[in-house]
Amino acid sequence: MRKRILVTGGSGFIGSHLCERLLEEGNEVVCVDNFFTGTKYNIKHLLDDTFFEVIRHDICFPLYLEVDEIYNLACPASPIHYQHDPVQTTKVNVLGAINMLGLAKRLKVKIFQASTSEVYGNPDVHPQKEEYWGNVNPIGPRSCYDEGKRCAETLFFDYHRQHDMDIRVARIFNTYGPRMHPKDGRVVSNFIVQALIGNPITIYGDGMQTRSFCYVDDLVNGIIGLMNYPEMFTGPVNLGNPVEKTIYELAEMVVELTGSKSEIVFKPLPTDDPVRRRPDINLAKKKLDWAPEVELETGLRATIEYFDEFLRSGKGKDLVLTDSRPGHKRARVNGKKRTGSDMSKPASRAN
Ligand code: NAD
Ligand code: UDP
Ligand code: UDP
Repeated sequence: MRKRILVTGGSGFIGSHLCERLLEEGNEVVCVDNFFTGTKYNIKHLLDDTFFEVIRHDICFPLYLEVDEIYNLACPASPIHYQHDPVQTTKVNVLGAINMLGLAKRLKVKIFQASTSEVYGNPDVHPQKEEYWGNVNPIGPRSCYDEGKRCAETLFFDYHRQHDMDIRVARIFNTYGPRMHPKDGRVVSNFIVQALIGNPITIYGDGMQTRSFCYVDDLVNGIIGLMNYPEMFTGPVNLGNPVEKTIYELAEMVVELTGSKSEIVFKPLPTDDPVRRRPDINLAKKKLDWAPEVELETGLRATIEYFDEFLRSGKGKDLVLTDSRPGHKRARVNGKKRTGSDMSKPASRAN
């Protein structure tokens, strides 16, 4: 039986890979997105598929559809994007979650929530296990995202307890791969684009902070594995790659793999930037028999190839590469110079 599956945020980076995989597996997919950070380019290749449908909709508003499963991914995910309109970020996490949970409740269907390692904040326990409650600043610039996602988890578990709903909550750690937004300021996309166009590679702080990078195909396997786990398994479960790297090591790898002549420069560290992050994935291993398979070097090569093609196609000609956070200067690469808040707006807002 072909399932009809709703993916919110389906035109975003992870969402587009998820839609693609669900279609490949013989499902019908309804992608709901308001194109805030997602782009039609990400799903262009799916539009001819009879079983793929796109609805422009903001999930902060109710949605009435008939589907068999829901994957809730809608939410800007990079610091630049989620801090651009922080009130909207909290709304999509809270109001959006309530609406999607209400939809799942009416339909009596399973619902997946894309939570995040950010629920652990700046962790004082390392690596992070699901039992750890986190160390989150409730009033800082990252709080709209961190606390928004924490509240979404609360809502999911209350709907589960109160209405006996089948929920699946994954805490996703830093993920990278083709179709990352080139302007979202995340470290992998920033470093690769900087290296490819010969701009300085911008390390924030001393580069000794760590992250653990998961290739998007591995993540999608984990997400679908969690959703399809045959018994009730609410999570939360960490999904990420446990191989930890310093940001400095990542910069060196990108320079080497691109053969770039870019120099490495140091910029101020953003407020509340977590010092260390690595998932403990024993629960996912044990329960879902899941572990990432793609090595960082392999995944970076595929991502570099994607951005290389993206830049050659001319789509990146107005690329403004640096960060809108305080202390971070913006640089123009090509095309017209833009000013003020205009530059921190996601490029695809008008899509
Ligand atoms: P993304 O910004 O590429 O995708 C988010 C998508 O949601 C975009 O297509 C955007 O247009 C859409 N969206 C935003 N607000 C919406 C709204 N109100 N209504 C409908 N659609 C809306 O980000 P991503 O990296 O693909 O992240 C997807 C999900 O995974 C997010 O929920 C994010 O918090 C979570 N996550 C991602 C990472 C990561 O490393 N990429 C890590 C942890 C968690
Ligand atoms: N909702 C929706 N689609 C549906 C059912 C519900 O968007 O098919 C939204 C609706 O806005 C509602 C919210 O989900 O307010 C929460 O639904 P729930 O049934 O939990 O609570 P209600 O507010 O209806 O009592
Ligand atoms: N970072 C950096 N240079 C950049 C972009 C990010 O050094 O051009 C750092 C950032 O300060 C953080 C890490 O890389 O320590 C990961 O940042 P990202 O925004 O990708 O993800 P998050 O902070 O949400 O984990």
